Amino acid sequence: MKPFKVRLRFHGDLNVFLGSKAGDAVIERRLAEKTSIKDVIESCGVPHPEVDLILVDEQPVGFDHTLANDTKVEVFPVDNRGTKRTDKQLQMVGMARFVADGHLGRLTRNLRLLGFDVVYRQDADDRQLLEVMVRENRALLTRDRRLLMHAIVQHGYWPRSQNADEQTIEVVGRFDLSELIAPFTRCLRCNATLEEAAKDDIIGKLEPLTKIYYHQFRRCLGCKQIYWSGSHFPKLQGRIEKIRSRARGKA
Ligand SMILES: [Zn+2]
Repeated sequence: MKPFKVRLRFHGDLNVFLGSKAGDAVIERRLAEKTSIKDVIESCGVPHPEVDLILVDEQPVGFDHTLANDTKVEVFPVDNRGTKRTDKQLQMVGMARFVADGHLGRLTRNLRLLGFDVVYRQDADDRQLLEVMVRENRALLTRDRRLLMHAIVQHGYWPRSQNADEQTIEVVGRFDLSELIAPFTRCLRCNATLEEAAKDDIIGKLEPLTKIYYHQFRRCLGCKQIYWSGSHFPKLQGRIEKIRSRARGKA
């Protein structure tokens, strides 16, 4: 068939994926055969779970749309800032279950601190991450762009920042979770939920000073770790409030 030209304009922060072309959000591709829009977008370096809306010649299309002649394409990221969601959008928000890659330990702890369910194993390989993602219907959090491009991934996110608190704000904003934050309900170590524990039931496990000064405890239903509002508590609460208000500002 006759070669044709596709002109793609990437909106919002999708230019973080365009590498050396950052700042210049327009890319042209010459194609010689019918190609799916998803493949063309990913060939530019943008993983499909980051794409929320595609307009081909001003009409919204799905990832399976095929390009066969000269076309103008507009590609939009997920943006929950005041945009009204329509049925043309390709991503889901409100998803609160995640699986995180082995480099995101601090983000994982932060999200668990906010009450979100995050499966994490430092030594998990790509295949194991994808298996958990599919089996348990979780969104994939990874800094590995190639992994996010895997065809099996439906929901996922590539944290822009390298800083865990910033990443947490990004994830809460991307999935629109600020109303679902429930601090101190989940174990930071193992991800199981916490239950109230009567002091009498756990007193044998407490240090002498903890026995004296603290009266309210929670216990992990999984690993049995005991939590209480110790001296670090005000600092933690401050961090949580900061994350919550920044995420709201973004949402
Ligand atoms: Zn636990």
